[in-house]
Amino acid sequence: MNAGKRQNETRIDRLNAEKRLPHEELTALLATWDAADREYAAEIARELAVARFGRNVFVRGIVEFSNVCRNDCLYCGIRKSNLKVERYRLGEAEIVECCDAGYLYGFRTFVLQSGEDATYPPERLAALVRTLKAKHPDCAVTLSVGELERADYQLLFDAGADRYLLRHETADPEHYARLHMPGQSWTRRMQCLRDLKEIGFQTGCGFMVGSPYQTPETLAKDMEFISEFRPAMIGIGPFIPHCDTPFASEPAGSVDLTLFLLSLCRILRPDVLLPATTALGTLDPVGREKGILAGANVIMPNLSPAQVRAKYMLYNNKTAVDVETHITKSDLQERLRKIGYSVKVARGDYGETPC
Ligand code: SAH
Repeated sequence: MNAGKRQNETRIDRLNAEKRLPHEELTALLATWDAADREYAAEIARELAVARFGRNVFVRGIVEFSNVCRNDCLYCGIRKSNLKVERYRLGEAEIVECCDAGYLYGFRTFVLQSGEDATYPPERLAALVRTLKAKHPDCAVTLSVGELERADYQLLFDAGADRYLLRHETADPEHYARLHMPGQSWTRRMQCLRDLKEIGFQTGCGFMVGSPYQTPETLAKDMEFISEFRPAMIGIGPFIPHCDTPFASEPAGSVDLTLFLLSLCRILRPDVLLPATTALGTLDPVGREKGILAGANVIMPNLSPAQVRAKYMLYNNKTAVDVETHITKSDLQERLRKIGYSVKVARGDYGETPC
């Protein structure tokens, strides 16, 4: 062992070499890291991402098609108990229009996200997926509509949906219980993730950084869950309080810890699709660029119609990357160019042959 190395650098090296760390070591790393460790991890993560994907960033156009939700997650601005939310839902024609515009701008993945809205039952979503896939057979469709029965996930997969995002939120059941209402079950959410993966979706899990009651111990469990579950995608962003939720006066998560965790995820899973999230861009105007330099390789610009954007407020001051021209001529492309990266026009599936 190199005696000159700091203890956490040795831990990061070991995570890179063995793709795992004993639980105590991982917890200690997450409890004691500093800026130098973060930079050290970012360098390794960046090299891994560049070796796999080149200096390319995949883009996904997200359509937030409904903010109606039957759930009551304590952190979320569109929880059903928040009576101040002006609820909306887009019709199929509007959603398809957003995706058509996205196609012309160069997007080859559409992400459809919503609250758990019973007026969009699986059959209706499946028909929408079929329409989109028929119109744009060269595109991937990602769904992020929450917890469903396995048979319904199967229906959506059979309709042609390619990917599914369902953050596990926390791998610690007690922590989960403190972030949700009694009817919401950690076991069920984890079962949903297993079902999605078994059915054949490219499946994404993930969690918020700095959610109330999170500790180095719960974060270590998140990383261990990611090792074991082997997701195709990992969504990580800082928790940001929303003024009309029970967590209104909780502090926001840290950008630096989010960046460190992005790097650790890249080190753990070199080929994973890892977005620099909207929440990261909300807390820091160059958060997404920092995320890419920490090992992320995906950005998800917003394709939702302007008039509904402000209503899909998961947290205060939620921002968006806008693309209103071909993606290769967009502001985003220019921002990425400044850090030596560029947008890749491609579906960007998990497990493709490396560049
Ligand atoms: N209904 C879908 C989509 C949820 S919104 C589902 O259940 O998967 C997408 C993600 O936003 C959530 O999984 C959560 O991790 C994140 N989110 C919600 N509220 C947030 C907040 N206040 N700060 C940061 N992220 C938040």
